[in-house]
Amino acid sequence: MAEILVHNLCKEFGDFVAVQSSSFKVEDGEFFMILGPSGCGKTTTLRMIAGLELPTSGEIYIDGDEVGQMPASRRDIAFVFQLYALYPHMNVRRNISYPLLSQGMRRAQVQEKVAEVARILGIQDILESPVSALSGGDRQRVALGRAIVRNPKCFLMDEPLGALDAEFRAHMSEELRALHNRMGATTVYVTHDQLEAMQMGDKIVVMNHGIIEQFGVPQDIYDKPASMFVADFIGSPPMNFLRFRANVEAGATAVPYRQHRLGMPALHEPLEGDVVYGVRPEHISLSDSADYRGEIMASEYLGTTQIITLNTENGEVKARISSSQPARVGETVGLEFNGATVTLFDNQSGRALRSELNEGVLSSG
Ligand code: ATP
Repeated sequence: MAEILVHNLCKEFGDFVAVQSSSFKVEDGEFFMILGPSGCGKTTTLRMIAGLELPTSGEIYIDGDEVGQMPASRRDIAFVFQLYALYPHMNVRRNISYPLLSQGMRRAQVQEKVAEVARILGIQDILESPVSALSGGDRQRVALGRAIVRNPKCFLMDEPLGALDAEFRAHMSEELRALHNRMGATTVYVTHDQLEAMQMGDKIVVMNHGIIEQFGVPQDIYDKPASMFVADFIGSPPMNFLRFRANVEAGATAVPYRQHRLGMPALHEPLEGDVVYGVRPEHISLSDSADYRGEIMASEYLGTTQIITLNTENGEVKARISSSQPARVGETVGLEFNGATVTLFDNQSGRALRSELNEGVLSSG
């Protein structure tokens, strides 16, 4: 078990800055996600925690000890890769035993540990099978078994489910999370899949271009995005952005836009200038009385809900409404925004403006 603290971590490759002043804390026993698009610096961050890459500057503490320059072998960490190299000529038992035998542990104790790990992972019946005969999922379980059996301080996982097909991936992610709930070992998990991060993580750090955009619990990341990048990257379909020039006083709960008044949480400071009004598709409803109107361009049926795409005076807007609600393509309808859930962003910086909605989230991020 371990607490990991990353402080002002930077990594440069020549002139290229892969990770810039990253700071976050992984609490003991937490399942912690590093989420972001390809090339944003997730793997580089993980490799620095593991000791496979040295930081250019900044510190990494594991249980209070600074380990930034310490060799990987002394950090007591298990690293699980996407395509974990198992020994194909050995059976499952030998693969799992190997790390312990190479440490010089007595055979009887090794057998005990392997039995315990096999029970945790539910792979007792394949212990004598050659790994070459196993399915992808069982191989992944054996790979996890090899990591768990060493009883490391923490687990670092780099897209461990990335090679699996969608259905099996969902199954394995549930299994991994259940395993974590039983073992409670600190886990840092890298993914570019926002759904996986939301479903599995206790906390998420969202990265973009080597910079941390936001750090927090999944619900805050979704409900109170700190930037337009986060609002767009998380959620499917992503948040809608309406852009216009505003001039409102601190504390106002609506922003005038042409002949409309659009609801919003009270802002902490007066606002004058170009803003972006961010509203999630599920926070838009159709209302005959609403004067903000849009023409339905398309409707996508998703079972209990449907996504409708509308053309409005402010561009394209997507709304998630009940499938039972009639929505005909070509029809012009009124749109009502749930103002309490709206995030306003500064158009230039893309950062959220401080309001009643995101109080605490922005200051702690
Ligand atoms: P992916 O999911 O595609 O691996 P990532 O977020 O994990 O993305 P990193 O692997 O951390 O991204 O890479 C961040 C950036 O640093 C990328 O632009 C990558 O090309 C660059 N990079 C990584 N390792 C090196 C290296 N050894 N030398 C030069 N550039 C590197």
